[in-house]
Amino acid sequence: MIAEVIVDVSAYPIDRPFDYLVPETMAAVIERGIRVKVPFGPRKVLGYVTALKEESGLDVAKLKSIDELIDLEPVISAELLTLSRWLAVQTLAYEIDALQVMLPAAMRAKYEKFIVVDEPENIDDEDFLRFLAGRQRVSLKEADTLGLLNTVKRFAKQGILTVDTAVNQKTAVKKVRMIQIATEETLQALLDSIQSNAKKQIELLHWMKDRAGQSILAKQLMEQSGIQTAVLKSVIERGAATEEYTEVYREPEAPKLKDTAIPVALTGEQQVALDAVRHATDNRKAETFLLHGITGSGKTEVYLRAIKHVLDQGQEAIVLVPEISLTPQMTSRFKERFGPLVAVMHSGLSAGEKYDEWRKIQRGEVKVVVGARSAIFAPFENVGIIILDEEHESTYKQEDTPRYHARDVAIKRSEYYGCPVILGSATPSLESYARASKGVYTLLTLTRRAKDQELPAVTVVDMREELKNGNRSMFSLPLAEAVRIRLEKGEQTVLFLNKRGFSSFVLCRDCGTVVECPNCDISLTYHRANERLKCHYCGHEEHVPLECPQCESDYIRFFGTGTQKAQEEIAKLFPEARVIRMDVDTTRQKGSHERLLRQFSEGKADILLGTQMIAKGLDFPNITLVGVLAADTTLHLADFRAAEKTFQLMTQVSGRAGRHELPGEVFIQTYSPEHYAIELAKDQHYEPFYNLEMAARRQFGYPPFYFVTLVQFTHEDLLKVADFADKGARFLKGNLSPNTVIIGPTAAAISRVNNRYRYQCLIKYKKEPKLTETLQQLIKYYRTDWIKAGLTMTVDMEPASIY
Ligand code: ADP
Ligand code: ZN
Ligand code: ZN
Repeated sequence: MIAEVIVDVSAYPIDRPFDYLVPETMAAVIERGIRVKVPFGPRKVLGYVTALKEESGLDVAKLKSIDELIDLEPVISAELLTLSRWLAVQTLAYEIDALQVMLPAAMRAKYEKFIVVDEPENIDDEDFLRFLAGRQRVSLKEADTLGLLNTVKRFAKQGILTVDTAVNQKTAVKKVRMIQIATEETLQALLDSIQSNAKKQIELLHWMKDRAGQSILAKQLMEQSGIQTAVLKSVIERGAATEEYTEVYREPEAPKLKDTAIPVALTGEQQVALDAVRHATDNRKAETFLLHGITGSGKTEVYLRAIKHVLDQGQEAIVLVPEISLTPQMTSRFKERFGPLVAVMHSGLSAGEKYDEWRKIQRGEVKVVVGARSAIFAPFENVGIIILDEEHESTYKQEDTPRYHARDVAIKRSEYYGCPVILGSATPSLESYARASKGVYTLLTLTRRAKDQELPAVTVVDMREELKNGNRSMFSLPLAEAVRIRLEKGEQTVLFLNKRGFSSFVLCRDCGTVVECPNCDISLTYHRANERLKCHYCGHEEHVPLECPQCESDYIRFFGTGTQKAQEEIAKLFPEARVIRMDVDTTRQKGSHERLLRQFSEGKADILLGTQMIAKGLDFPNITLVGVLAADTTLHLADFRAAEKTFQLMTQVSGRAGRHELPGEVFIQTYSPEHYAIELAKDQHYEPFYNLEMAARRQFGYPPFYFVTLVQFTHEDLLKVADFADKGARFLKGNLSPNTVIIGPTAAAISRVNNRYRYQCLIKYKKEPKLTETLQQLIKYYRTDWIKAGLTMTVDMEPASIY
């Protein structure tokens, strides 16, 4: 038998399966989708069996054999194998990358070097023999830490031992030590016979006698009995108990938030939406719905009921939520409803925790997965519904290879299972709304808030006027006044700043010099906490200069408005206010997110100040005021989606206020109050925004009217990168149809990162049948030749941003 194996060697120019012989002993067990260890050149690598066949087109005598089976059961189902193939083609990625992205990181290969002793009898070195202690196989690292590498080398030369690379696939199953206590009679017999001076053991035997026959965690036993390991070991040796290791799951710490009441009846609009979805599930129809509902309209309730329906049919559900650790409220709503049937997968979990959640899914022990982007690959085998909440979020697009969009994968999987997809959002992406308008997706609309609350009253504050009136603070007079009123009434305020805490820069007031990163073409950002400047592209750090590096003026100071600066201003304006700040700096620690949100929900602060991360999912009854300190920051990005992102963000943020009984109020501070993205976000007027933005996209030839593909080149040498980019562009122009537009090569907006210069070509097209083929050819040139010249090239079909 022959197995086709995709090997774990990307960067190899040829991206295809390799044939391996299946040894007789494995023939009965081997299956598609299991991992194997195979020889590849001089190395041993991990591979995935993608097909089994009787004959090879190659000379069978020359084929190598599979060394070892890593799994006994497939870790990738037939469906996911097909999906990975599709994914590799769609995103122009290596098939190995498309396979690996489907599995938790803990299951990817780790490679380790081993010493294999072939002729132990010929070793004449006493120290080395002592080190080996009779072992035939020892990790090279162990020899290294003892300084024995030279000896190893010498024996290797003499052919006494070999150094072998092994795939180390300890998939981290967590085990705990359980102590099974013997019967009362056994324990009594031991007590009768034991010497009276073994006081500690007697004490433990008595303790055990009270718990005869029970099974208890070793850790617990020691804590409760106050006994030490050695004593436990002695009594086990006497037969007072047996021990065993049992496999357990790591339980990620679940945030404890207040329960949300389960609504008794759906609103009319919710019911219409749910009925449409149920119709699709009952008819096993792969239909994609766009659920467009204003913030607080009860979209989540629709998801929950649709899932319930699917589970009742014995099927499973996949729910994607952007950056899930950021919305503990969301996960707790699912856990409340479906209890232990829910697995949660997000970036905040450790590799081991992720692996455990994955296994629960694979073993069918859970029926619902709520997770971030990669949960779209959940190894369910009877999917009944797939939901993407906040479908417009750019985090659904993976930025590394394979550069896939979770929405496309969701639709692909739904076609396999004949099940619906729900894309939910208050501010759908233009792409999705355009598809819904054309009838490609089915549009479902929720126009009213579920509890019939009014949308919050939104005021746009013109900061230019404030400046004219002599107010140089980050707070306009109306917003400051509104905060003051909340503080008096004991209600809560959320203040939103679309910038990271340290995103201010250092500027010379005399000559205008901005301190830049020596490796990247970008200004360094100021960290107040330790008075340092950092580059957030390459990690370079330096002290804040005392004088200008250009003109030596000492009038050099930081500039800008980060969350830290905002916090200081709040302290000045409202010294009595209790403030919680949430940004990358204060939430770096695991669990800090939940902790801060919990504190706020428990009323331990008056003001929550934060970045993007507080725009979503916050749902606390006492929030009656939301302030956006600077709405312009996303508006002026060099990106065709800038207006769309601003509209989405403003709508999301406004949706945080007045979701319950108390009415809400929102202030948006901006230097461009007349911009339609801000003007229309005020009243959540999605459709007029959609129409205006579509007109702009049509005029400038951007998606969804055109598709775009971004090809980026980087190299240490500016001339070389320009040269390769030029070659690439000429190749594209020569092979694509004349209607396709190729912009560039141009320097990227951030033209140097980590000492590598960046160039790019943008391909714009409506219909380009030769695109995939042409790009594949370009990639082939790159992989076989260009890469050797130190170039990196990436191809991103439908990039989230183009700078
Ligand atoms: P969305 O996901 O659209 O922002 P949610 O599903 O979170 O909206 O609903 C907003 C609030 O309204 C929640 O507190 C939810 O419990 C409540 N809610 C949802 N549907 C109903 C309903 N039919 N009747 C009463 N309350 C509801
Ligand atoms: Zn200067
Ligand atoms: Zn840098």
